[in-house]
Amino acid sequence: MLVLVINSGSSSLKYQVRDVAAGSVLTEGLIEKIGMGNGGDGDGEIVGPRDHAEALEQVDAAIHQELGDLELAAVGHRVVHGGERFAEPVLIDNEITRAIERLNPLAPLHNPANVLGIRAITKKWPEMPQVAVFDTAFHRTLPEHAWRYAVPGELYTDHGIRRYGFHGTSHEYVTRRAAALLDLPVEEFDGVIAHLGNGASVTAIRGGHSVDTSMGFTPLEGLVMGTRSGDLDPSILVFLGRAGWTPEDIDTMLNRESGLKGLAGNNDMRSVVEAAEAGDAKAATALAVTSYRLAKYIGGYHVAVGGAKALVFTAGIGENSHQFRALVAEKLGALGIQLHAGLNAERSKEPRVISTLQSAIPVLVVPTDEERAIAEATAAVVSSVHA
Ligand code: ADP
Repeated sequence: MLVLVINSGSSSLKYQVRDVAAGSVLTEGLIEKIGMGNGGDGDGEIVGPRDHAEALEQVDAAIHQELGDLELAAVGHRVVHGGERFAEPVLIDNEITRAIERLNPLAPLHNPANVLGIRAITKKWPEMPQVAVFDTAFHRTLPEHAWRYAVPGELYTDHGIRRYGFHGTSHEYVTRRAAALLDLPVEEFDGVIAHLGNGASVTAIRGGHSVDTSMGFTPLEGLVMGTRSGDLDPSILVFLGRAGWTPEDIDTMLNRESGLKGLAGNNDMRSVVEAAEAGDAKAATALAVTSYRLAKYIGGYHVAVGGAKALVFTAGIGENSHQFRALVAEKLGALGIQLHAGLNAERSKEPRVISTLQSAIPVLVVPTDEERAIAEATAAVVSSVHA
């Protein structure tokens, strides 16, 4: 079964054609600068397709040029916000599209773009089955004590202000692969998954389900990230508001100018590690803050899951930065965690154990693959509908 996986952003469209049975990528690409150009007619500079429909034409042309004639069985969309309604991937129809649209206020940068991608496909291929795979869905199993903020109830009932969690597709996929690596049925997997990319979140898994996660109402809460602050005292925002900062100023500062970038002047973990090794004090502080904050979450989630059976690192930093993994692990001695220096330093694309035999629990590196997870979920939904 061939599935086209679409990750539609406001000005970009990322795609992959996947052979689900083989687990392989047949082709992939990225269309950028959507809505910023003139589509190629007219005499101005050609900088991009006019809209998502035109971007999709480019995707279609690129796929056919690359692969010749082929029959796509379905399209799987990464959708950022599924609100309280969506706990599973779903087959898209008009009602579902409108439901995703109604969640726009909760994800104003992402859901409108996801809907544009869905509508572009509906228009071009009206008969094509489309499946929405939500970033929030895996976290619908959070118990109320984990998703409630301690604020007046109206904020939840009138505005939907609660913790939702994100990166769910990755956390779920990595949970399954980690359980498999440990030879455990996924229902018996209790552990902590640290997804550390530009965006970063950590999830507490009990019995294979998400019971807590560090991102909340938006992807800003929790860990120190590439350019996002993660947790801070909300009074800082009030203080800045009183000092004349606008909501947009505060939003930009917290989402784009904070995190590693705010602390070290650079949002790329590789550069920050190199700078710290070369003696840069700001970079060293950034690493210390970032690793300490993650270690505190891991300690907390060890409690949340009733004793983790494994700690798992994934995504760009989690999979590749042995230095950062070591900084986190050295703060986890109280949990009996001990990394194996040689195994930790090894480079590999395979899921693997990087702790010593004496470590109280195994520490794993498990590469994530959100597109693969979306393609598999899409195929499963389409097959169940046709069954
Ligand atoms: P995104 O959230 O955008 O998908 P990624 O999962 O690609 O992000 O992670 C990006 C982060 O991974 C960056 O901070 C980058 O420096 C880091 N990273 C990628 N490759 C390496 C590497 N070989 N060593 C250390 N860090 C790496």
